[in-house]
Amino acid sequence: MLKQGGYTYSNFEGLEKMGKIYLIDVTNRDGVQTARLGLSKLAKTMINIYLNEMGVYQSEFGFPTTRHESHYLQANLKLAEMGILQPIRLEGWIRATAEDVERAYSLVPSIKDLNLSISTSHQMITGKFRGSRSEQDILTMTAEAIDAAKSHGTETIGVNAEDASRTDTDFLLRFASVAKEHGADRFRYCDTLGYDNPFTIYEMGKMLAKEVGIPIEVHCHGDLGMAVANSVAGAMGIIDGGQDAYINTTINGIGERAGNADLVAVVLTLKKSKGLAEKYKFGMPIRLSKSWKTCKYASYAFNVPIPINQPGVGANVFAHASGIHADGVLKDPQNYELYDFKELGRGEPEMVETGREICSGEYSGISGFRHIMGKMEISFESRDDAERVLELVRYANVLAQKPLVADELQFIAKYPDIAKELLAITPLT
Ligand SMILES: [Zn+2]
Repeated sequence: MLKQGGYTYSNFEGLEKMGKIYLIDVTNRDGVQTARLGLSKLAKTMINIYLNEMGVYQSEFGFPTTRHESHYLQANLKLAEMGILQPIRLEGWIRATAEDVERAYSLVPSIKDLNLSISTSHQMITGKFRGSRSEQDILTMTAEAIDAAKSHGTETIGVNAEDASRTDTDFLLRFASVAKEHGADRFRYCDTLGYDNPFTIYEMGKMLAKEVGIPIEVHCHGDLGMAVANSVAGAMGIIDGGQDAYINTTINGIGERAGNADLVAVVLTLKKSKGLAEKYKFGMPIRLSKSWKTCKYASYAFNVPIPINQPGVGANVFAHASGIHADGVLKDPQNYELYDFKELGRGEPEMVETGREICSGEYSGISGFRHIMGKMEISFESRDDAERVLELVRYANVLAQKPLVADELQFIAKYPDIAKELLAITPLT
């Protein structure tokens, strides 16, 4: 899947040889480290399943050096081995130090993909490290971290330059070159503070692709409202520079401060914006029709409503009131709609209970539980089986602190052993 080396072409010549676009979703890393927000381990697992269904290349599925993540990470890696989380890759995010690599492998021995992150800007080196690390130290630490990961047989290694957009270009190139020399598969250009604009990041992406000569990731934030535009422009630059481009996204744009590049908006832009789809192509099929389910679930899991004007999945995106627009869309939807709601998986009626409702909870009993599962046409071979799944559902509710949705209940009933593992948290042993 990963391609090494650059391509040369002009205009649309050799289109099939051009780099492709892949998505790396970081909801389960950047999303969950956002202030005031978080996800249960079951919700993180569901997110991985939905991302896989959408055709996302990789999920940055968590923090392998964090003890309370280890059962969840191992359980999800088992789902990958079982073929359930395939073909998506599950990559852990750690700091670029050899110690973090060792700790990751001691807590999550079967991890296969890693991203190693370190700050590279003068601002961060002086303002955060406060003289404890020089530029040379950054290079040395990163090289040691990559070497350590290689020694453990890590299949893909991404190296992240935090605050890359405010980093001196010469140093950034030195840093990326060291990463490449030690065997990194990708270089992540992080616009950590959303400082870039589409013009600057296009040029930077192109230059990095040409000069570094390995696939490049763009990781953009929305502090100036340009996360999606910057991600797409950066990817265009990378492809024009002759490499595959990996765009970091989050579901509903959830991420630190003003958020990250919204997954659905990035896909829509690449598929629908003027002339883009002819030249810049995805490396694997993206199933946009899974957007509605994925975004609704993330909204519920995070407790963050989807803004009514959110691209693709907002309540108003296919709503028309004014006379001229309503008349126009009734005559031909394409008069006022750039894409159809069915493309996003919208349009199916949704059942909302308006009367009596039996919900799952941490104090649920067998009768209510059987009623809920029966509605989904799930039955159990024995009372013992039902009791076992119910016990897992109770624990899932302890962590979620809200009723589980149908997909979550079905997951637990189908994979009780995996559910048991990912729900396990044992503090201070
Ligand atoms: Zn970020």
